[in-house]
Formats: sequence, C-alpha cells, structure tokens
Amino acid sequence: MTHTLHIVGGGLAGSEAAWQAAEAGIDVVIHEMRPQVGTFAHKTGDLAEMVCSNSFRSDDSDNNAVGLLHWEMRQAGGLIMAMGDAHRLPAGGALAVDREAFSAAVTERLHAHPRVTIKHGEITALPEDGHWIIATGPLTSSALGQAIAAETGSDALAFFDAIAPIVHADTIDMDVAWAQSRYDKGETEDERRAYLNCPMTKDEYEGFIDALLAADKTEFHEGETAGYFDGCLPIEVMAERGRETLRFGPMKPIGLTNAHKPDQKPYAVVQLRRDNKLGTLYNIVGFQTKMKYGAQTEVFKTIPGLQDAAFARLGGIHRNTFLNSPTLLDEQMRLRSRPHIRFAGQITGVEGYVESAAMGLLAARLAVAELRGQSLPPVPPTTAIGALVTHITGGAEAKSFQPMNVNFGLFPPLPEAKSGRRGRRERYPAYTARAKEDWQGWLQAGALAPA
Ligand SMILES: Cc1cc2nc3c(=O)[nH]c(=O)nc-3n(C[C@H](O)[C@H](O)[C@H](O)COP(=O)(O)OP(=O)(O)OC[C@H]3O[C@@H](n4cnc5c(N)ncnc54)[C@H](O)[C@@H]3O)c2cc1C
Repeated sequence: MTHTLHIVGGGLAGSEAAWQAAEAGIDVVIHEMRPQVGTFAHKTGDLAEMVCSNSFRSDDSDNNAVGLLHWEMRQAGGLIMAMGDAHRLPAGGALAVDREAFSAAVTERLHAHPRVTIKHGEITALPEDGHWIIATGPLTSSALGQAIAAETGSDALAFFDAIAPIVHADTIDMDVAWAQSRYDKGETEDERRAYLNCPMTKDEYEGFIDALLAADKTEFHEGETAGYFDGCLPIEVMAERGRETLRFGPMKPIGLTNAHKPDQKPYAVVQLRRDNKLGTLYNIVGFQTKMKYGAQTEVFKTIPGLQDAAFARLGGIHRNTFLNSPTLLDEQMRLRSRPHIRFAGQITGVEGYVESAAMGLLAARLAVAELRGQSLPPVPPTTAIGALVTHITGGAEAKSFQPMNVNFGLFPPLPEAKSGRRGRRERYPAYTARAKEDWQGWLQAGALAPA
C-alpha cells in the first residue's frame, strides 16, 4: 500500500480518523496547526483537546442515543472511547473524563503509532490531489475557511450557528396545534400543510414575552464575538427591542386560521417547520436563542400545544464553522466538487465531542475502503452513526440546515411504535437493540483487517 491518507486537524474527529486508518494499515499524516497557530478556545498543543465541558454525556447504550454512539464506537475499536474509558471520572450515568490525561493519552497513542506522522502547521488551501480528510472543527482557521468558502460558495459555509429548538413531532399536542402554511401557500397538499401552528391569546403572548425577558441567558465565550446578524437575532433580543417585535416577526398571526377554533383570530402564532425527511422532528421557526437550557425548556413549554414537548435539541448561537453538508457532501462524506477530499467532525454539521469523533471514525473507514478499491455497504440508518451521516448528507432539510446532536428523532421509526411518554420508554430500548444488531452486521460486512 503506497497511498497516504492526510488528515487536517488533530481534534476529536481527526484523531479518531487517524487511528482507524492507521489500525487498518494505512499510512497517515495528521496536519495540526496548534501550537503554532491557536484558537480562542484551545489551550494546549495536544491532540483531541476538549475545549469546554469534560463530559461525553450519557453512557447508557440501551436508552440513550449518545450512549449508543459510545457503544458503536467501542465496537469499532475507537481510540476516543478507549482513552475516555481509561481516564473516566465518577459522574453517575455520564462518561466524564480527566481532560488533560485524556488528550495526553490520545496524543501519546497516535505519536507512538508506527503508521502515524504528526506535522504541526496550518493548512491554508484546499489540496489539489491525494487522499484527504478535513476535520478542522468549529474553529477552522480563517485562511482555510476562506479557501473552503471559495470552493463551496459563501452561502454554503457558515461561521456561526443559529440553532432553533427542535421538537419530537409526536410530542406536539395536535388538539391545540394545526397544520397549515401561511396563506395556504404551496402546490401540493403536503406543502399547504408544511407548518405546525401553535396559537396564543393576548394574555398568553404577554406572559411569554415576560418569561423571555426574565430568562437566564448564556454569554458568548471570551474571544467569540457576537457576530450575529439582524436576520438571526436571538428571540430574547428581539423581545428586548420591543414587546411587539416578535408579533410582527416570527410570531405574526397573519394568513393563518386556527383549524380547531376558526372563529377566533390568534393574537400570535408560533410556527414549527419540518426538520427532516422522516417528519419526526420540527424546529421552532425563528426561535434561535441564547437562553440557558433549563430556561428554554421552561419558557417553550408555556407555548400552547408544546406543554408536553420533548426537545431533540435546544437552541443556541455559537461561533461554529460548518458546511451545508446536505448539498455539498455525498453519502461517502466526499466533497461533491472535489471527491478526493472528505470532511469529518463538527465542520460537517454534527455537534459535540462524541458525534464529531464518530464522523471521524466513519470518514476514515470510508477512505480506507476507497484506497483499497473496496466498497463498503451503506451504514444502516438504524444505527446511531448511520442516522447521523444520513441526516447530514441528505436527510436534513438543506435550506434550514443547522448542526445536530445525535437523538432518536433521526432514526427511522419502528413499526407500530406507541407515541407519548410511555411509548418513548418502550421505544428507546427497541431502537438501541435494532441499532446494535445492524452495527455489528455492518462492521462484519465491511471489516477493515490490516492490509
Ligand atoms: C467554545 C466552544 C465550546 C464547546 N463546548 C462543547 C462542550 O461542552 N461539549 C461538546 O460536546 N462540544 C463542545 N464544543 C464543540 C466541540 O468543540 C466539538 O464538538 C469537537 O471538538 C469537534 O471535534 P472536531 O474534531 O470536529 O474539531 P476540534 O476538536 O476543534 O478539532 C479541530 C482541530 O483542527 C485544528 N485546525 C483548525 N484549522 C486548521 C488548519 N487550517 N490547519 C491545521 N489544523 C487546523 C484545530 O487546531 C483543532 O485541533 C464546543 C465548541 C466550542 C468552539
């Protein structure tokens, strides 16, 4: 084997990718810009630095989607999980790690691997040839960010996310909400019913504005400038600009008739828009926010129709470089316009340490197979890794694409699944059992034994 796999970025995704490829017998070069060039969040020159919390979140692989992701990565011999386990700290059902020992151990293992070379230095342009994985993360250096934007078009590369909360569709009370697009616009019945609407009376609206103004908010991190634009202001900032601003913005009631009470004109309406092709997830339109997570749950549950809502993810606005992957990447995670380049990690539009590492794992396995002239079967979308990659490479709505954590709303529904809270308690172990079997099947079918 004479080919070398180049990986740009030695973060969570790049480190995992390098390990997977090297263990499969491929020579790997990791190009990492730190410590020569830093970011506002990284503090060391080590690989796989965890820049904020020290948690890999739930480790429950039977009932939790991120716990399932842990399990799938362990089954695939993942370095990030192995080092996370080796440096685990007590944290109840979560997997918390000693961050310094963890990233030192990842660095040491990769440094010691005979097939891995680590080169420190910034990559500033897209490579013309060879085999590459770009895993430069949410804080991709500005020179490389500009080079990527020049290739993809600036509309397809974002430098901030503006995440509106996402709700599991089956937890929206359809005795209160109704399906209708504003002014019944749309060519097909599906389009005319594309939005779900939650109505508010004047009192409910005033109470909602009070709650928004009083809620706890998070601040931008030091060095992370608040570069958001008027088009994606947090809802609480809109409310601060005037109590009526939201009613003339994302909560305007015009062009909508309450199907349950056609004679009562709503004072304001909260709209939800489909977030994935499966129709299992809806985002609250225009509700990007910097409210703290606890405050978001409390405030959003006061919206009529969302009183029992379960959130697949809560809102946020962060410095975050990410691609519009549904339009730019193929199902093999290759840049359509330059297929010798794959992307992995948070820059593909997943979010979180574990999700990013999982996308590194997959990108490397796909690259290794390609280098060997092998073709891997598609990853089953019933697995956590498969659900994530299916979402970012086409399952998500490209127009409203925002970074996504792993959650069961991304999984194809189970036949005859019960809805509601009790249904969820039964559904989750069924999802994870199906995923485990399918992931093991995929690993066996696409086994990457050393060359
Ligand atoms: C402020 C902040 C707080 C966060 N908090 C959390 C949290 O609490 N929990 C959580 O799960 N996730 C959190 N995240 C997200 C987390 O950083 C990512 O999920 C994870 O680190 C992504 O892994 P990655 O490998 O894609 O990127 P990273 O881990 O960031 O790795 C990318 C690597 O690429 C390098 N690089 C960048 N540009 C170049 C270049 N041009 N040439 C060479 N190397 C380059 C960087 O130095 C870095 O080492 C946070 C992100 C930020 C910015």
